Amino acid sequence: MPAFTNALIIGGGIAGMSAALSLTEAGVRVRLIDRDAHWGVSGAGITITGPTLRVMKRLGILDEVLKQGWTSADIRACDPDGNILSEIAGKTSGGDGIPGAGGIMRPTLHRLLAERVKAEGIDVSLGLTVQDIPKGRPKTVTFSDGTEATYDLVVAADGIFSDTRKALFPEVDGPKYVGQICWRLMAPRHPGIDRRTYFLGGPMKIGMNPVSPDEMYMFLLEPVETVEWIPDEELPARLAKLMESYGGIVADVRDSLTPDSNIVARPLETVVCPAPWYRDGVVLIGDAAHATTPQLASGAGMAMEDGVVLGECAASETSVEAALEAFMARRFDRCAFVVDKSLTLGRLEKAGSSPIDQIKVVEEALAELNQPY
Ligand SMILES: Cc1cc2nc3c(=O)[nH]c(=O)nc-3n(C[C@H](O)[C@H](O)[C@H](O)COP(=O)(O)OP(=O)(O)OC[C@H]3O[C@@H](n4cnc5c(N)ncnc54)[C@H](O)[C@@H]3O)c2cc1C
Repeated sequence: MPAFTNALIIGGGIAGMSAALSLTEAGVRVRLIDRDAHWGVSGAGITITGPTLRVMKRLGILDEVLKQGWTSADIRACDPDGNILSEIAGKTSGGDGIPGAGGIMRPTLHRLLAERVKAEGIDVSLGLTVQDIPKGRPKTVTFSDGTEATYDLVVAADGIFSDTRKALFPEVDGPKYVGQICWRLMAPRHPGIDRRTYFLGGPMKIGMNPVSPDEMYMFLLEPVETVEWIPDEELPARLAKLMESYGGIVADVRDSLTPDSNIVARPLETVVCPAPWYRDGVVLIGDAAHATTPQLASGAGMAMEDGVVLGECAASETSVEAALEAFMARRFDRCAFVVDKSLTLGRLEKAGSSPIDQIKVVEEALAELNQPY
């Protein structure tokens, strides 16, 4: 018998789908809603770590990720001209023969999780949100279509700009800009990019990662004091300028930019909700509770782990309160650690610190994240 009978999950992203799968496995009846009628994500790539691959195995999608994404044993750090500085080998292994690093297209990851959700017969409603979550227990929720239903637990997996957090945790500060813009470029895979590769020691931090045999994505972190909106048509020229002083692979990619290049520029923001992330029968998970900057490429992994751990706590405990307490005991320090170390890396990048200092933080953080969750 699980700790509770039924749950509503608001948000069908990485955290929400993972929670839906894990709670269903625990025997909880789940309804998953997403306000996006098309239930999609935009087309950029995503970096995955060994620990992220480990939780993907737990969610039953690892085999397909290995087929449809790209993985490698290690991470490579290069200087701005592409000369190899260091290989963070093996130390990032997710265990059980799971590779240490990888990448996948976001829409592919979304589809793989959504296919698992559908295969489990989970009740999914799209184009739907909640209008009101009143105080009190059990929670009788009013949906945007005017219907009502009652749940033992409401799981808010509605992302960094979570409406649920704003409504029910009004004292928590909203997303905070960290002084960096993340540029992302989707491109054909450069033959020299066969693993997650960083270019350190130049004016920007640049990384490239294969997401399939034919595709890769590049990210570039630009320090910017005050965010300005950049018109789409200016993105390729602005990005090329930021890559101007680089040689080798980065120069090749810069020279291949065209007016049609697939580029997104987004300010980096962070949220850390103080513990506990639950109140009155509602729990925040994923980016709604702890949105990190991407330096450790672990936001999606933490979102998936949140979902898995919530289900495990529902299976092992005997009440909603006990399950949420056990959930917090396993999640807070680990997720806060990811945000903290990612911000540390961002500060080192902005200060132009040495590649050795940055690599050390990445190595130590990934070793810590390899510990059981
Ligand atoms: C620039 C950038 C690069 C990143 N790169 C990486 C990376 O390489 N590797 C990595 O692991 N992580 C990365 N991350 C972090 C990662 O994308 C997030 O941690 C992850 O997507 C969080 O998943 P989530 O399900 O919590 O939230 P989301 O993915 O935001 O999903 C929220 C879902 O809730 C729905 N929703 C929102 N509001 C409502 C509502 N009111 N009602 C109903 N539904 C609602 C949305 O439609 C959406 O489907 C990156 C983040 C950024 C910003």
